[in-house]
Amino acid sequence: MTGYRGRFAPTPSGPLHFGSLIAALASFLDARRAGGEWLVRIEDIDPPRCPAGAADTILRQLEAFGLHWDGAVRWQHDRGDAYGDALERLTALGLAYPCSCSRKQWRDFPRYPGWCRDGVREPGKPVAWRLRSDLGLRPVTWRDRLFGEQRFDPAELGDVVLKRKDGLWAYQLAVVVDDAEQGISEVVRGFDLLDNTPWQRQLQHALGLPEPRYLHLPLIIGRDGQKLSKQNLAPALPLEDEMVRSILHRALVALDQVPPAELRTAPVDEQLAWASDHWEPRRIRPEAHRRE
Ligand code: GLU
Repeated sequence: MTGYRGRFAPTPSGPLHFGSLIAALASFLDARRAGGEWLVRIEDIDPPRCPAGAADTILRQLEAFGLHWDGAVRWQHDRGDAYGDALERLTALGLAYPCSCSRKQWRDFPRYPGWCRDGVREPGKPVAWRLRSDLGLRPVTWRDRLFGEQRFDPAELGDVVLKRKDGLWAYQLAVVVDDAEQGISEVVRGFDLLDNTPWQRQLQHALGLPEPRYLHLPLIIGRDGQKLSKQNLAPALPLEDEMVRSILHRALVALDQVPPAELRTAPVDEQLAWASDHWEPRRIRPEAHRRE
């Protein structure tokens, strides 16, 4: 066993589609090739966005594609105490603050201007909690395994929300706390999250957490030119074995791996065995977007 630990962390807002398969498959292969562990974490922090049954469908889809995870599935809905502890520490460090402003109030600005940094502007109103992106680690630099050197000034990205006014936890804080708690050493996910990474790196730095390595993957664009997503009603991955086999083969090709043509109809375990033995992330062309 190596020190490698990867994860796939879907938001269960709907079933997996071809775009999410790319992220799941790449993180799985990267872990298996390294002889590491691969975990699944269901990021269900936003219940209104997560229809009943969607998480179970996702797990059944992963199984149908042979993407068997290690250990128990982690759920975020019961992790509020851990996120609360992290927010308290950030607040004590002066790196998180309550904010009463509404989006409408700052709609003429490219990002939230930080009006509540020195005290809540409208005391008594519900507050969100934001990160002080102008303090702490700045600039944020890291080396993405596919896209190379990255350099961001988080102050230009703005004070991201860590906890929402309705009391729900925001993705940035939850992902950092759980990646650290689960000992994740490698994050493999879609290019749409690359520009979220600076906030996550800032949070890791502020909380004294280890930094995973990052590999962002080209996003798959549908025939209509739109990113494949649940919002665009990208078709759900099937569970029927014959279709699963050919879609898995297509996903390997989309990741610029070169599976033999005859593997197209092979059982998923056979395809995955070949693919983990031959996984070569350097083959992936570093494009932000990619046609389906
Ligand atoms: N939950 C996020 C999503 O489904 C992914 C989180 C991550 O991989 O960091 O888009």
